[in-house]
Amino acid sequence: MEDYSNRLSGYDDRMLILMATVDRGRYHDFAIEAAKRLLADRHIDLTQYNEDFYISEIASGYGAGWEKLIRIMLEELRINGWNCDITVHYKEKYGQFELSLETDNYILNEIIKKHLTIINCSCMICGEYGETMEVAGWNYTLCEHHFIEKYPIIYYIDNKGFTIRKEQYSWEQISEISLLTADYNTKSENFQDIAIAEVFFFDQRETILLSGEWVNWFLFLKTIPSRLAPVWLTGELEKFYKTLKYCPVCQFQSVQEESCFYCGFWMPSILMKKNRVEKKGEVFDENEVFLKEQSYLKMPSFINKLRSLEKSFVKTTL
Ligand SMILES: [Zn+2]
Ligand SMILES: [Zn+2]
Repeated sequence: MEDYSNRLSGYDDRMLILMATVDRGRYHDFAIEAAKRLLADRHIDLTQYNEDFYISEIASGYGAGWEKLIRIMLEELRINGWNCDITVHYKEKYGQFELSLETDNYILNEIIKKHLTIINCSCMICGEYGETMEVAGWNYTLCEHHFIEKYPIIYYIDNKGFTIRKEQYSWEQISEISLLTADYNTKSENFQDIAIAEVFFFDQRETILLSGEWVNWFLFLKTIPSRLAPVWLTGELEKFYKTLKYCPVCQFQSVQEESCFYCGFWMPSILMKKNRVEKKGEVFDENEVFLKEQSYLKMPSFINKLRSLEKSFVKTTL
């Protein structure tokens, strides 16, 4: 036990206070006891950390939208009998807020259920209607506006430059663009290996990293001025665009190896699913199968807005 107090002795007051109060659901009893002992040694009176402190701590750190809704939930719990003697377990997991109390009080648990349903379809940032989705490897619950704002998108690419997160960049400011393989270190020797573009500026400002996850990635590669591109890039891109096939779902010329760049994004490949259906020996009209499979994916309603920003591919007819 002494050993544990030693381990915590480097923690600041605030960290120990959280361990002993609002965050105690995350720690073992012996760690909480050690934190309390250290706080007593430091003459910190824990009784001053009441429900108001708990509510502020639990609600903060997720964005203003969720903060407001979590506060409303906790206030309702307090009115109905929750106090800081009842341990709260709370966390964000895969873009959803989770909270439970160490109590079997029916009313308190029903209040939590009701509010979690509201919180988890509300934008973390602004509180408007939101959906949970993945953005560049992380999960968030966001409204359409904040989803688009958070998503990595290269806008307004033309022969003058491009725009990222409302900042305009001109090709003339750029001293070098390194096309790298997925390990971030090696320069790509051919088109298929390109995973990342690191953009360097003449004025030595911070570099920008772009990758295949960004909307308009292929258009960006296509528009890099020849001064900044390896000699093989234009020819390889032309070859790539020629191999793309027609997608019956979106009607863009954007299919490579059974998956569609335009429909795809982070979704499982719709066209892969189509092949599986065919292997079962069932016969469908092709377009019908695609559209049916698409509806199974329960796409976030914002996906079409995001797709409409993708300008790398052209719409075509069979
Ligand atoms: Zn929002
Ligand atoms: Zn498609």
